[in-house]
Amino acid sequence: MNAVTPANSEIADTLRDHLERRTGLTVETRPSALEQYAGGEGMPYRRVPDAMVAPSNTQDVSAVVRVAADLGAPVTCFGGGTSLEGQVVPVEGGLVIDTSRMSNVLEVSSEALDCRVQGGIRRKNLNAYLRDTGVFFPVDPGPDATIGGMVSTRASGTNAVRYGTMKENVLGLTVVLADGTVIRTGSRARKASVGYDLTSLFVGSEGTLGVITEVALKLVPRPSSIASGICQFDKLDKALAVVSQTLLLGLEPSRLELLDEVQTVACAAYSRLEELRDASTIFFEFAGNADDVSRRIKAFRDICAQNAGSEARRFDTAEAHSRYWTARERCYEAALSLAPGKKNMGTDACVPLDRLAECILRTKELIAASGLIAPMVGHVGDGNFHLGILFDPEDAEESGRAEQLCRQVSLLAMELGGVCSGEHGIGIHKRSLMDSQHGEALAVMRTIKAALDPASIMNPGKLLPPEGTGQFD
Ligand SMILES: Cc1cc2nc3c(=O)[nH]c(=O)nc-3n(C[C@H](O)[C@H](O)[C@H](O)COP(=O)(O)OP(=O)(O)OC[C@H]3O[C@@H](n4cnc5c(N)ncnc54)[C@H](O)[C@@H]3O)c2cc1C
Repeated sequence: MNAVTPANSEIADTLRDHLERRTGLTVETRPSALEQYAGGEGMPYRRVPDAMVAPSNTQDVSAVVRVAADLGAPVTCFGGGTSLEGQVVPVEGGLVIDTSRMSNVLEVSSEALDCRVQGGIRRKNLNAYLRDTGVFFPVDPGPDATIGGMVSTRASGTNAVRYGTMKENVLGLTVVLADGTVIRTGSRARKASVGYDLTSLFVGSEGTLGVITEVALKLVPRPSSIASGICQFDKLDKALAVVSQTLLLGLEPSRLELLDEVQTVACAAYSRLEELRDASTIFFEFAGNADDVSRRIKAFRDICAQNAGSEARRFDTAEAHSRYWTARERCYEAALSLAPGKKNMGTDACVPLDRLAECILRTKELIAASGLIAPMVGHVGDGNFHLGILFDPEDAEESGRAEQLCRQVSLLAMELGGVCSGEHGIGIHKRSLMDSQHGEALAVMRTIKAALDPASIMNPGKLLPPEGTGQFD
């Protein structure tokens, strides 16, 4: 599954000739330059596209898509390339649209708490731009992803427990449809009851319905006080009880992350946190005004003490805060460092909060039965957790066990009333779960796809499972 399919030079020449003549944009067709667009992170699927173009605005994207539509060429958007399920692999070749030149902030209103940006801007660049405005954009997947990519995967991150996911934070979009038509969805208004919610339709559509060129986002005020820390637990079920009681008591953490003992050991070694013991670890953060933060931290500490946690340690310096939260951000790399040369197959179960403990404890049994190394890290305040299942893609037997474990965890999440993906999306890898996840509703998704993209040129081979079998199944 990781063989690199080369570009087709005849198709590349046709795409370049038509695109350069009709749009005036420069088109890249050198295989060495196209290699970087062959795949994303995580799963080792790869295919080199036939051509790449990097437009800088909606009008250019519309012109490019019109040409692709006339030629029947597949179009795959490439934002940060950090998605984990094969979303950016141009499985049928064709054209890649690199969104990196669409990276401007177009408008900011700190009074209305909103902004409008181009789809290719990186989330950290947006927040750097907002640094002195008193507001920020809170959705924070681990890497420095693009806003368009985050819209397309309905991303979230450690802040979602307080501020929500992309679903809650996108006000409107500018989208180039599969025939080049430009539409605007939503508005700056906080509420709207004006027909079908097209913004939500495109949030999470993984580039299969159109190219997102502009995004209107909600912003939030920077809290005046932030306090964070860690607490360790010898027993995972005790840590899970703390999570549940923290949420039930309405302590409203701004971040609540759980690492099992395997991930904790990996992080301690990778980020040189010698103080961490071989035990499950909760990373916590509370934000608000100073008095309120102190009150909530005290209540949180009491809950930890009642559940046999080590004393909840509050970071007393900005340096300690940054050191630990950077280590949390590097969980993925830390997991990989446990088995150099292996790949990381991610699970992304998200379940109702009252089923989280059961889901995690049963998942630990599944890991033990698999014989695989699979560190666990979770945005547990949202009922969402990941395994990083380490496997050798060249070893068919081990890859098979990894696939089986991944599937078991996904099906378990569904059995408990949850979903197989809380934030990473479907891409290529989780398509086979879409039927179990949606049942009859999958046919409605196919109808929407056929209506908006009848020739299936927008990111083909993703999200919807094939009706036959395909190259990457
Ligand atoms: C170490 C690590 C940690 C991660 N942690 C998190 C996490 O905590 N939370 C989380 O949600 N995700 C996480 N991810 C996954 C990833 O960062 C997100 O999926 C992110 O939203 C992808 O954004 P991107 O810009 O890299 O998009 P890409 O990977 O470039 O693209 C993703 C999909 O969106 C499409 N797309 C991109 N731009 C556009 C556009 N402008 N218009 C239409 N379609 C477009 C692509 O075709 C593709 O289908 C993590 C990944 C890694 C490697």
